[in-house]
Amino acid sequence: MKIYDFLIIGAGSAGCSMAYFLQKENKSVALIDREGIAGGASGAAGAFLSPLPGKKNPYNSLVNAALEYSLDFYEKLLSKAVDKKGVLRVADSNFDEKKLSQNSIKHKYLDSKKLHEISKNFMNIDGFFYENAAVIDPLQICLELTKKCDFYKRDVKELCFKDGFYTIDDIKARSIILAQGVGSSLVEIPYMKISPIFGLRVDVKTTTKVPFNIHKSISVSTNKQDGTISIGATQQRHDDEKMECLTTCDKCAYYINSDEVQIATLLKQAEELIKLEDLEVVKTYKGARATIKSYFPVIGKVVDYERSLKKHPSIKNGTKIPPEMLEYYPNMYLINALGSRGFVYGPYLAKILTKSILHNETMPKEVSTEKLFYKAARKN
Ligand SMILES: Cc1cc2nc3c(=O)[nH]c(=O)nc-3n(C[C@H](O)[C@H](O)[C@H](O)COP(=O)(O)OP(=O)(O)OC[C@H]3O[C@@H](n4cnc5c(N)ncnc54)[C@H](O)[C@@H]3O)c2cc1C
Repeated sequence: MKIYDFLIIGAGSAGCSMAYFLQKENKSVALIDREGIAGGASGAAGAFLSPLPGKKNPYNSLVNAALEYSLDFYEKLLSKAVDKKGVLRVADSNFDEKKLSQNSIKHKYLDSKKLHEISKNFMNIDGFFYENAAVIDPLQICLELTKKCDFYKRDVKELCFKDGFYTIDDIKARSIILAQGVGSSLVEIPYMKISPIFGLRVDVKTTTKVPFNIHKSISVSTNKQDGTISIGATQQRHDDEKMECLTTCDKCAYYINSDEVQIATLLKQAEELIKLEDLEVVKTYKGARATIKSYFPVIGKVVDYERSLKKHPSIKNGTKIPPEMLEYYPNMYLINALGSRGFVYGPYLAKILTKSILHNETMPKEVSTEKLFYKAARKN
């Protein structure tokens, strides 16, 4: 029986980043995943790192702070897995021109004439160029983050906590971190309702030089160091009844295989941005990312909803009970709901959570488990 300080369930961007920061603080870590490292959404991700334009608000401030940190972090970690050439954002219904131009992030407007001077392959588009953006190789990054970590390929069905230890088969640990993405949570967390959103990434070879990443409703990457270009989008909500599921996840009632149609649609959308010559599809990836209604990611100690409300029923009526008086699952933490920016948030949030666990440093309230708990408790 091997005993660790921490057991992490889920080896995606969230779990791998946690493993890295905990090990940096000399903690022993076991990482468990039923698929392998980056076998979930993280392996399927684009993985584009882009700023979030628009008037400053708490959400885009968080994204942009995380981006600043993570770009630098990945370049120092493994520069050969990072291509940092900026992103051209083309206005769409989500982000109109006003939103793209009126913000504090440094940018320049490129009209279609200017874009044609850069590459004759650009279609008749214009957009806003942001320098601080990159595309990374998600698998290489996750492998690098966890290279000193013990990895176990297991499908964890339930948690057993006894005599101060969590035990899974022959693995024992004092503390546990749930980094499960869209996987069914191993404990009841009714205040964090995860919606899986499906997506597809197609890696292609082309003779076209794509000078920087391009983003509209889909993303097209620049030519990466491995010689491919990634084209990706995550758009389909799992709770949309009309939707047929394209991947397998715990919550999935359907499975269809219409890869060809999906790939053709994605490539067509890419061709509306830039003409990709001598195009050859190398590999396709599918995955589901985890999102909650507020779009904020969530980190922190795992509040026991039932026991906390039983102890303080007046929370439901709005009585302010401080977080330290709530009931928590013992030595249990979570990092989830990283949405469409799992690789932007991963290292940034893992560092914050690690400092909070090991050094009691305060965490931003807007990403805390407690914020969701209070909101759900008062609503009910
Ligand atoms: C097609 C696509 C494109 C994307 N593009 C981008 C992008 O360009 N930029 C970006 O930043 N983000 C992107 N994302 C989002 C990003 O991938 C996610 O936010 C991120 O991967 C989430 O990481 P995670 O570690 O939380 O989840 P995951 O990577 O899904 O990891 C969770 C892991 O937990 C494991 N697990 C769960 N339950 C159990 C259990 N009981 N036992 C064992 N193992 C378990 C799963 O097998 C899984 O591997 C994209 C996502 C998709 C699907």
